[in-house]
Formats: sequence, structure tokens, C-alpha cells
Amino acid sequence: MPDPIPFSKAYLVGDELAYVNQAFSSAAVVGDGPFTARATELVTKLTGGLGSLLTTSCTHALEMTALLLDLGPGDEVIMPSFTFVSTANAYALRGAVPVFVDVRPDTLNLDETQVEAAITDRTKAIVVVHYAGVAVAMDEVDAIAARHGVVVIEDNAHGFGGTYKGRPLGSLGLMATQSFHGTKNVHCGEGGALVVNDLDLLHRAEIIREKGTNRSAFFRGQVDKYRWVDIGSSYLPADPLAAFLTAQLERFDQIQAPRYAIWERYERELADWTTAHGIGVPTVPDDCVHPAHMYYLLMPTHEHQLGLIAHLRERNITAPFHYVPLHSAPAGERYGRVGPGGCEVTERISGQLVRLPLFSQLTEEEQTRVIDALLSYPL
Ligand SMILES: *Cc1c(COP(=O)(O)O)cnc(C)c1O
Repeated sequence: MPDPIPFSKAYLVGDELAYVNQAFSSAAVVGDGPFTARATELVTKLTGGLGSLLTTSCTHALEMTALLLDLGPGDEVIMPSFTFVSTANAYALRGAVPVFVDVRPDTLNLDETQVEAAITDRTKAIVVVHYAGVAVAMDEVDAIAARHGVVVIEDNAHGFGGTYKGRPLGSLGLMATQSFHGTKNVHCGEGGALVVNDLDLLHRAEIIREKGTNRSAFFRGQVDKYRWVDIGSSYLPADPLAAFLTAQLERFDQIQAPRYAIWERYERELADWTTAHGIGVPTVPDDCVHPAHMYYLLMPTHEHQLGLIAHLRERNITAPFHYVPLHSAPAGERYGRVGPGGCEVTERISGQLVRLPLFSQLTEEEQTRVIDALLSYPL
């Protein structure tokens, strides 16, 4: 059996442990220390946001958006069904109802032509997910949101470093959430950030993240004692974790360069094979730049999805499918509902999609093995 090729492998740029040691040997081991300030500045710069706050995960950043929008029972939030559970869970946790809208068959992003029909007088927000870091049709979604007085939130877990019409993903919604989970391009094991593009919300976010206290203002010398002023929780990471993240963010280009090379080689060397057999590949509209987070195939049938995954597994290569649609999952049925357009495309493509190994340390030889294995799959 050849050596295993995993789907994803967390990458170290080299400075992480030195930074973590530095953080631990200073007094600043709790949250919001000097490394948090450095990482936060880099997150704000890379997302083009007004401001950002490090969080313990993207999941927690999503929960913060629900708190900041004061969502509660009866409120509705439009989102794709083809996403990670946290996108929906964050709102269900407040008693709001996720309303699932189908995705486009090309980008696998929220289908902007079906959003308006799903809006009711209870709709408060539209949450978009830039799947594989390829932007949602934001101009269209924004126009619908503006017409109905609802806000747009970006679940930008895949999209760190991507752009839409030259504007960075993360700067496009009222708020955006980032993930620094070990499976994402930039990571600190478990971590995230909330990007906030409104000054009042940013101030309130600071309070919600600090257990509902104005502790941050106190440390800046803006108030003479800190007190309980709002609801909140503890969503801030310890500074040593921010130190790890700082090292990664400072070398963002070093992380990205090999990812782009791998992504482009898949596209180049699989083109004839995918065209000949009607296999779908990622669609990147001209006005989008993606951050090489993912390369996937859409097999012609569900049998071929399972067949290809098994064929690769026999060659010790891990290539997984992706999201199990939320609308038909047990909790999705309990807490959410499907919009008027149904989720037909979601149901189809979730049974066709296969993600290929893509991580910064994947060697040329390993990628050759993946490509050879794909081309040897009997179709
Ligand atoms: C990874 C991911 C999340 C969750 O991120 P965590 O940092 O693990 O909480 C949420 N949404 C999407 C689309 C993701 O891919």
C-alpha cells in the first residue's frame, strides 16, 4: 500500500511555536493581549473590514451575529442548506428559524434568484456562504436585502483572502465570520474572528464577546470601572492562541502560493478528463478571485461519487464528499424550514461532490498520484 495522502493537513509556517513561547513567557496569557492586537489588525487588513474581533471559532462568531441582531423566536434567517451546521445552529440557538434556499448549480452558492421569494415579514437576515471561497452574487443579494430592509451576513469560513469585484470577502456584509480551524487555509487549531462593518455594532460586539461587560473600554481607560452592561458570553481566545495565529497571518502569502499551484494543476491536468466524462469542476466567475481553499469534482451520478471515493481509498488517498444538506437533517427539520423554491440542486450536488486533497505541503509526487488515480477510475 502506498503512503496515505490525507485530504487536508494543518500547516506550520515556522514561527508559531516561538510566538507561543513568547506569549506564555510574558504575563499576557489571557485574552486581548499584544498578539491578539497584532492578529486582529491583520484580520481587519486581509478582510478589508471596518474592524474585527478574534473569537474562539467561526461558530462563536456566528452566534455573536445572532446576539448582535437581537434575533429571537419567530425571526427568520435565509441561508443555503448546503453549508456547515454552525451557519444554521447559531440562529436556531436563539430561537430563530433558518429558512433554506437552494444553491446555484455552477458556484454551489446561494441562488440569488430564489432569495426574494423566501422573504417574509419575519425575515431579519440573509446569511451567505462563499462556497470554496468563490463569492456569492453579492450585488444581487444586497439589492434584495435593501429592498426588504434585511441585513446580509457573510459566513466567510472558506473565503479568507478572496475578492468580489475587487473587494475583499469579509467587507461585503454588515458582518462576516472567519474560521481559523485546523482544516482552513489559515489556522490556530481552533479559532475564528468576527468582522464588523458598522461602528456601533463593533462597540457592542466588544461587550458581547467579554461576557457582557465593558471590560475592553475599561482597559483603554475610557471608563473607571467595568460592569455588566449587556448580555454576552466568553468568546475570546487566550493570547498564546492569537500568537500562533499571528505567525500564520504574517505569512499568508507563503501559505497561499502552494495552494494556488496545486489548485491550478488540478484544473489544468484534469480538464480533458472532466470534459470528456461530463464531470463538473469549480466555476469561478470573472469578477471573483478565490483563495484556493478547495478543489472539487461533481461526478455525473451518486454511484460515481461513491465509486470514485472508494477507488481513491483503495489507493490510500482520502477524498471526501461534503455537506449533508441541512434541510433534511434531523435538526434541520426540527428547527428550520425549506423556502418556496425547494432545495433540489442541493440534494443533487451533495450526492455528486468529491473534494480532492489540497494543502500547502502536498508534494508534486503526491499530486501526481492523486491525478493518476483519478484518471484510472473506470467511467
Ligand atoms: C468551518 C466552517 C464553519 C465553522 O468553523 P469553526 O471555526 O470550526 O467553528 C462554519 N461555516 C463554514 C461554512 C465552515 O466551513
